[in-house]
Amino acid sequence: MTQGQAEALNKQQPHADLYETGSVPVERSVWTLDHTPPSHPPLIGDLEADIVVVGAGVVGASLSLHLAERGIDTVLIDAAQPADAASGRNAGHVQPYLLSLEPLDALPGKGRPFLDCLIEHRNIVFELCERHGIDADQVQSGLLEVARQKSAALESKAKKWAGLGLDVEILGSDRLRPLVGTDRYSYGTLWRNGGSVNPFLLTNGMVRAAAGIGARVYGNSPARACERQGGRWKLSTASGSVLADRVVLCTNGHVGTNFYANLERTQFPLLACGLATRPLPKSFLDVVNPMRTALSQHPAGLYPMVVDRKGRLITATIPGVGRAHRGDLHFQYFLRHLRRVYPEARDVRIELETYWTGMTHNSSAIYDKAYPKLYRVDDGVFGLMNFGSWGNHLGPMMGMDVARVLAADQPDSAVLGCERPQQVRFAGLFSTKLRRFLIPSARLADRFDLV
Ligand SMILES: Cc1cc2nc3c(=O)[nH]c(=O)nc-3n(C[C@H](O)[C@H](O)[C@H](O)COP(=O)(O)OP(=O)(O)OC[C@H]3O[C@@H](n4cnc5c(N)ncnc54)[C@H](O)[C@@H]3O)c2cc1C
Repeated sequence: MTQGQAEALNKQQPHADLYETGSVPVERSVWTLDHTPPSHPPLIGDLEADIVVVGAGVVGASLSLHLAERGIDTVLIDAAQPADAASGRNAGHVQPYLLSLEPLDALPGKGRPFLDCLIEHRNIVFELCERHGIDADQVQSGLLEVARQKSAALESKAKKWAGLGLDVEILGSDRLRPLVGTDRYSYGTLWRNGGSVNPFLLTNGMVRAAAGIGARVYGNSPARACERQGGRWKLSTASGSVLADRVVLCTNGHVGTNFYANLERTQFPLLACGLATRPLPKSFLDVVNPMRTALSQHPAGLYPMVVDRKGRLITATIPGVGRAHRGDLHFQYFLRHLRRVYPEARDVRIELETYWTGMTHNSSAIYDKAYPKLYRVDDGVFGLMNFGSWGNHLGPMMGMDVARVLAADQPDSAVLGCERPQQVRFAGLFSTKLRRFLIPSARLADRFDLV
């Protein structure tokens, strides 16, 4: 994007409500800049298929690709175009581990199959890109969690996962300094299987690969109804339908969708925002992030950071209530943080290129315990959703696993198990707690150098 184009985009301010609902045009997201948006045709007429996948985010894209690879006749439809929602708007971190192992106890086999799958496919994003020739600016440069002091929590998490088979190392200040260009952090864990990716390109790359081996893909086709017809399911849109043996809803919380409305109440929604700077001088990036490592700060993780191939610094955070549309404000917070952590940032011209918002859907009100879910919505209708803040790795992985169990007609043997949708209580409290109290307090603590 040229400076002129960026300025023109910034002048056409979407309404504040669109920021608050995470639905500003996806063209605002940094991941879409410099790329031609996809334009799959709408579904017109009546089709038949083995499986219809609804929702072409990173989850539905992976599921469709892995189904097509197994020779299953698949139709993928999206209300807009692939990666229009969270998958085109996220922070680009590829995190091959989960923050808490506690939820494993509730999974089949006490979570052993899930863990085995995660370890075996710890490099899945990078492997998929390689296998299908997807250029998604993916960099397996490691994911680095940094702390100001030695942290027992980081140490124990790293040791647990290293014991399970992930490539993770604990670093002291001497090893950290060259990676992060600051003395502020003296302790960190480097997860070498992780890194960063352009999630918009990853998702669209998987959709393209799926279409290349036979999946039929339709855009601008919101699914409106799903009804039993004989022993099969008829999934209808405004201008067409698909009659299929099975339906998988990868609609990330199913928000605003009037059929199977109970799915919308299975999760705790949380608005997040992202912002990207204009490309920064190489000399500056060589100091602060020479390896393009994906960075996050322990314990608050206020400003996770990645650098794209153009040299933009990209971060995401949670906007305060009533402030979702204030890109200027969130940029100022970020800039203040950068200048505090990297004195060099005071001498560099750092400007906001773009700001956007998106929704996450978490299966638990305890952030660290939000594992994705495979729901049995009806006999032959499934929901694969609620990937929280971990869709970039878990989306491709679970898409692959669910394709495996659907091909074998054994949904209960999915590594996540397969459960009936359960409604959560007080869904809004999670967002209120984070947006009104926890994040503003963390921001204050960061500002006064208390964390
Ligand atoms: C700001 C932000 C930062 C994040 N950072 C990270 C990160 O760094 N790393 C990470 O791993 N994760 C991150 N996440 C989370 C990650 O983006 C999600 O977990 C992931 O994208 C979810 O993918 P999905 O395919 O389930 O959903 P989505 O990408 O939301 O896709 C759902 C799709 O379903 C379609 N749809 C919905 N209803 C219908 C219907 N009725 N008919 C047809 N189609 C329908 C939508 O149009 C959409 O395309 C972040 C999220 C946000 C918002």
